[in-house]
Amino acid sequence: MECYLGSKVALATMHGKERAIARPFRSLLGLELELPRGLDTDQLGSFDGLVPRAGGAEQACLRKARLGIENLGLPLGLASEGSFGPHPEMPFLAAGLEVMVFLDQERGLEIWERLIARRTNFNHRCAAEPAELEGWLTQVGFPTHGLIVRPEHPCNGAETLLFKDLPDHPQLAGAIDAAATASSNGRALLETDMRAHRNPTRMACLRTLATRLAKRISTACPACAAPGWGRLEVVPGLPCSCCGMPTPLTHRERFGCVSCSHTEEHPRPDGLAEADPQHCPLCNP
Ligand SMILES: [Zn+2]
Ligand SMILES: [Zn+2]
Repeated sequence: MECYLGSKVALATMHGKERAIARPFRSLLGLELELPRGLDTDQLGSFDGLVPRAGGAEQACLRKARLGIENLGLPLGLASEGSFGPHPEMPFLAAGLEVMVFLDQERGLEIWERLIARRTNFNHRCAAEPAELEGWLTQVGFPTHGLIVRPEHPCNGAETLLFKDLPDHPQLAGAIDAAATASSNGRALLETDMRAHRNPTRMACLRTLATRLAKRISTACPACAAPGWGRLEVVPGLPCSCCGMPTPLTHRERFGCVSCSHTEEHPRPDGLAEADPQHCPLCNP
């Protein structure tokens, strides 16, 4: 895909995401990132919960990409957004959903890539003092991963008290003490900082996602040659090797274009043509 070679793309971020995104976009597309100046992307909803995010991660991501385009006056924009919570299939595990969008206003393209991050340190804990947190702090990766500290039940006037960017254990202890003192139950609430520059696990996910998006952009539609050809969905129904009934396993993959209506279905890429009967609703109900 030569069409973006030497072009610039606006990346609206305050959180150092260019460290994960710059290389794949340069090496796969010849695109250079440009960061808008004086942009407060936290206005669009921030990870410390002080600004609620309207319309979900995808809407926030689109707004951010458009903000970067307007700020720099470029036709190309890029943004990412993460949301974290219980894993959709395993509610006791945390998972992250990362979305990333590339906008090309001249060609009228909107190209998405999504990633479910099974490895995330997303977590929270309440404590009156650091001694209660020893194993937990290791588990969430402090201090290489950031923490946000505030009162669990803020006393009057302490509603906005919040500590972040704590570099080490002594400063964390000070923040816990101050937040616990300002809480009516004497306890501080600690939450993992999910901002990319304070969360190397998340930064690694963004690198994977950026590589996938750059690959998708660099793939041309076989019908109209527009950038952004890629997988739209997986089609279940891989036949059971014993009785031939469709199982919930992936049978085919459907690919599509973001510009024209062309789609194609292909067999699953690992070549598996039949499912083990253990996945069959008839043989193994
Ligand atoms: Zn069967
Ligand atoms: Zn097409």
